[in-house]
Amino acid sequence: MNSTPEIFADVLFPHPPYQRFTYTIPERFRESLSIGHRVLVPLGKRRVTAFVVALTSIPPQRELRQIEDLLDPYPLMTEALLQLTEWTAGYYMACWGEVIRSALPPGLHRQSSVIIRLKQPLPGSHHPVSETGKRIINLLQNKSAMSLRQIEKRIGKTSIRFHIGKLAEAGFVDVDPVLDDPDVRIRSETWISIKADITPDRIEATRKRAPKQARILGELARHGGAVPRRELDTDFGVLRRLQGKGLIEMWEEEVYRDGYDDLTIPEPEIQTPNADQQCAVDRIRNAMSKKKFHALLLHGVTGSGKTLVYIECIRHALMNGQTALVLIPEISLTPQAVARYRSFFPDDVAVLHSRMSPGERFDAWRRLREGKKRIAIGPRSAVFAPLQDIGLIVVDEEHVDSYKQEEPAPRYHARDVAVMRAKYARAVIVLGSATPSLESYNNAIAGKYGLCELPERIDSIPLPQVRVIRQTDTEHERSSAVFSRELREAIEERWKAGEQIIILQNRRGYAPFLICGSCGAVPGCPRCEITLTYHRQHRHMRCHYCGFQSSVPDVCPVCGGSELRYRGLGTQRVEEELRRLFPGLELLRMDQDTTRRKGAHSKILYDFAEKNAVLLLGTQMVAKGHDFPGVSLVGIVNADTGLHFPDFRSSERTFQLLTQAAGRSGRKSVGGIVIVQTDSPDHPALRFAAMQDYTGFYSWESEQRKSLNYPPWGRLIMVLFRAKDRNTAIEAARRFAGSAETNSCCDLLGPSPAPLARIRNLYRVQVILRSAKSKDPAGRKLRETVRKAVARYRETERNPDVRVSVNVDPVNML
Ligand code: ADP
Ligand code: ZN
Repeated sequence: MNSTPEIFADVLFPHPPYQRFTYTIPERFRESLSIGHRVLVPLGKRRVTAFVVALTSIPPQRELRQIEDLLDPYPLMTEALLQLTEWTAGYYMACWGEVIRSALPPGLHRQSSVIIRLKQPLPGSHHPVSETGKRIINLLQNKSAMSLRQIEKRIGKTSIRFHIGKLAEAGFVDVDPVLDDPDVRIRSETWISIKADITPDRIEATRKRAPKQARILGELARHGGAVPRRELDTDFGVLRRLQGKGLIEMWEEEVYRDGYDDLTIPEPEIQTPNADQQCAVDRIRNAMSKKKFHALLLHGVTGSGKTLVYIECIRHALMNGQTALVLIPEISLTPQAVARYRSFFPDDVAVLHSRMSPGERFDAWRRLREGKKRIAIGPRSAVFAPLQDIGLIVVDEEHVDSYKQEEPAPRYHARDVAVMRAKYARAVIVLGSATPSLESYNNAIAGKYGLCELPERIDSIPLPQVRVIRQTDTEHERSSAVFSRELREAIEERWKAGEQIIILQNRRGYAPFLICGSCGAVPGCPRCEITLTYHRQHRHMRCHYCGFQSSVPDVCPVCGGSELRYRGLGTQRVEEELRRLFPGLELLRMDQDTTRRKGAHSKILYDFAEKNAVLLLGTQMVAKGHDFPGVSLVGIVNADTGLHFPDFRSSERTFQLLTQAAGRSGRKSVGGIVIVQTDSPDHPALRFAAMQDYTGFYSWESEQRKSLNYPPWGRLIMVLFRAKDRNTAIEAARRFAGSAETNSCCDLLGPSPAPLARIRNLYRVQVILRSAKSKDPAGRKLRETVRKAVARYRETERNPDVRVSVNVDPVNML
């Protein structure tokens, strides 16, 4: 017997069940297996991919199964990533396996699925077969076998396993497990080169008996170096024979798919940082040289040149042999943004982006993991990019909501995970924004983060003038009043002057709702408590939450009245109005409806940058970070669209949106203006945005939140209960709230129906737990309270009809 104690592997799955399982390690893997490795293990009747998260020498009491295979030559998850994902799971009350799944590129996991085959001949019909069962049999009659997934796709997911189980019991079908291929695999290609000692005479000598071989040899000789097989017009047989004769060499090389191959990389613009930029660069580099954790908020007005600061600091990290991580909001991650970074660091940038194909993401990911690329750029999930020895993390536009993952779990905030990552890696993190979140600015004022300001635009170009125009409700109803006289004239003037214009209306569709002229009824989604938006192009109404569509009724479904009117303004209606008022004006519309296809979003931005259009109209998408030097007018059709949402952040969002939108005007030349139309010109969010006064807004908004212990003065955790039946959801939330042991450090709000009280047929009831920063600075007590309450709830209540989700530091309160 061996004297060293046997080692066991604790593994997690990237899908349910999320508990840890322990397996034995076969002799042949003992040497090579380590923490972070991906392995194939048996689970029930299936074989699935799992991740080794710990090695232990204490055998559990139960009989253990054995690891079947080691899937990679090196551990995919580094120890640093395991540590970070474990922290994320703990903090956000998610499952560790769930976070590991989010951290990895999709499509990696091998799973066994089941193949279902119809038995021949079919047994007699004395077995009762459910309706669904009959449909499955019908499907199988046309095919010899189908996978579970295929059947689910055709019939729907609900209890399909149950029905198949019943069919198997009754002897109608056979169910066999098979191992799926993973969705993504390493791609390789064959390369060929002629052996160095082959002379032209030797090639000539072959020509007679084997002309095909001689032709290939000639081609290879002309090339000199290695040639990929796809460039040689020949079949494998010829190559095999040449290889057999020892005339050529053939080998396989990995192909890296990039997804940005056809990107034209501009010459790097040689820019010398101005004094403010240099000051920021020096401070950041200084912090980097200390090799200690440091967080810094870079508060730079729009057009102040934050990107150059990032680039100079990334350069510094690479020079020190370190790597860098850059997070950008999904929507700003355009080919132009990638090209800008690539122009400075041609061989070092790997992009991780959800619109890339799984193969491209996998390859980019592996190049980072293998140290072949040293800069990772991507949205939210790139916070888990497998970089080693990180020197710098940049979170650009740190205030943007999409850094928070809300649905499904894990509900993590990438900015905050990035701060934690920097802590673990003893790295420097820079959070950049013209409109920092209250949370980050508060941290800076409190001295937790350093604060660096870029108070001026490049070349001291002044910020644009903002004019606020009051629009009355009555004016809005007449379509001619979509644009005030001032805005109309300004568009005319800038168009004639050859300048460009951006128009923002933060609502898509034609009209956000229809209303009956006689009874006031408003058609809503039958599945969600939401009004339906009218889309003129397809002449239907659509729910923006669940996608439900229906045609417009001829008469009011409630009173039979014949007059249904449009209310409110969507981008489509603004477009129609612009075309009517300004015939011949080239315009582009950018909203979710026009950017659904891959590449559409970038194309619009590209066309506008190339001045193929005078005017860019759209939702908040047009306000995000773009740098169009030709724009000298930004018009905001209605600044109030988000102002009155039942969410404590609605003022902050409005302020950010207006400031960011205004920031697109006059970036490179004097004379930029912004015209804001609003019904609430006196609202502080509007007034401060008009003055472009961030600190003024911060002080005001911060006071509002203080009295209520809302962030940044307190922390929130939202527990959401969803059920098909309203009372079931309310009752579950009540019992949870009743059993939660809140103490003096935190209080409980609710249960109450969520502002969006029903979505996709599920009623939604919220319980919000809140703790004050003064009593519970890091929110530890709050999280402990919720953790206990949720655990107790899950133990005692096992009602499968209620879905419970926990959202720590929620961003979307609706
Ligand atoms: P921000 O993100 O702060 O709004 P950007 O980083 O997009 O600003 O920079 C605004 C514009 O100024 C860009 O076109 C950039 O190329 C240019 N720029 C930045 N720094 C300099 C500099 N030091 N000299 C000249 N141009 C600069
Ligand atoms: Zn709906």
